[in-house]
Amino acid sequence: MRLASLLLLLFLAMLPGCDPAQSPSRPKALFIGLDGVQLEQYLQLGDATNLKQRLYYGKAYAGGVNGKASEQPTLSGPGWATLLTGVWSNKHGVDSDADSQRVNPAFPSLFKRLRLAFPNAYLSSIVNWSPINTALLLVDAHGADVRESGLSDEQVSERALNVLENTPADFTFIQLDEPDQVGHDKGYSDSYQQALRKADSQIGRLLDKVDQRRRLFPKEDWLVIVSTDHGRDYWGKGHGSASEQEKSIFIASNKPLNQELTDLSIPAEMPGPSNLYGLPAQTSVAPTVLRHMGLKLQPEWLLDGTPLLGDTGVRKARADENKGRLRWNSNANGYLTIIKNGHVVAQVPARDDKWTDPEGMGQQNDYVLVLDGTPAAVRNRPAAKAFVIEESSY
Ligand SMILES: [Zn+2]
Repeated sequence: MRLASLLLLLFLAMLPGCDPAQSPSRPKALFIGLDGVQLEQYLQLGDATNLKQRLYYGKAYAGGVNGKASEQPTLSGPGWATLLTGVWSNKHGVDSDADSQRVNPAFPSLFKRLRLAFPNAYLSSIVNWSPINTALLLVDAHGADVRESGLSDEQVSERALNVLENTPADFTFIQLDEPDQVGHDKGYSDSYQQALRKADSQIGRLLDKVDQRRRLFPKEDWLVIVSTDHGRDYWGKGHGSASEQEKSIFIASNKPLNQELTDLSIPAEMPGPSNLYGLPAQTSVAPTVLRHMGLKLQPEWLLDGTPLLGDTGVRKARADENKGRLRWNSNANGYLTIIKNGHVVAQVPARDDKWTDPEGMGQQNDYVLVLDGTPAAVRNRPAAKAFVIEESSY
């Protein structure tokens, strides 16, 4: 009897896919986008929210770094384009909410990258604010299995629940707009709090549906990410400028995220207001989703964001144009590889925290800093000529 059991176990172990510990999991991602939600206001709803009870969350920043190449307005178009591509507006090209705006094909969104990697993946984009689908992603997300726009938040949620219930739902992006609309209308107010409460309960229903699906399909490995395109000004009515309040956003997840979210890492020479730039950037969401979905992040993609799952690579990669220097934060013992405009130009100890380009930064360059197989891209602004001359005379 014991021998028979042993033989049966051996037999099962040899069958492909029979051992749950060995079988590959199926990654799935749900990205819930809330429009114009300020974290502090959200937290004021108390401890009983889905955000606090069921998600890991932390503060992050939008709008790039003020005065640097990554700076972009805290508007919806640039914000959604950054969340969905993992690069700032100096790459994705979206710098306003105009209907003419399209994501630069050289910097595709999650939809296009996932479609290229998995031709049969089931991709959905369901939004209240139409321009995400009808302008920014018009070409990029062509061929998404579900693409619906201009729905109410309630309709967006219902449609998403339907997708999660009845389809493979490999990657689902939804956008809820009512918090932003109420904010523009009433500012911070009971109405805004009500809108946040409603959005939070919609998140709760979606999390319930994901839980239900995980029970039905134990091999599915679900990542749920919640974030927002921009913060709000002091009064809660407007956004678009570069104030700390407008740049403050949040990133939340059903999975514990890495130290880029949990441990502040401050760029010494440009900490930003209240050390804002020590937080993860809005560009972190896309590489996190790509990595979860099983894609290896490629240096040639020039992604600006640090992934929030797995190795961070170097953190806070940035250009100091005046000194013709790249800077980054890292405690790693290894070496990082520096790629400039597609060519490996240096290998330096990660702990050095800086590298000076012998050719200066008089022109725009695309650098990628690769550590532990994780790339971090930096596109510098051409340095002012006076600085280049001054620097080369050292
Ligand atoms: Zn917005």
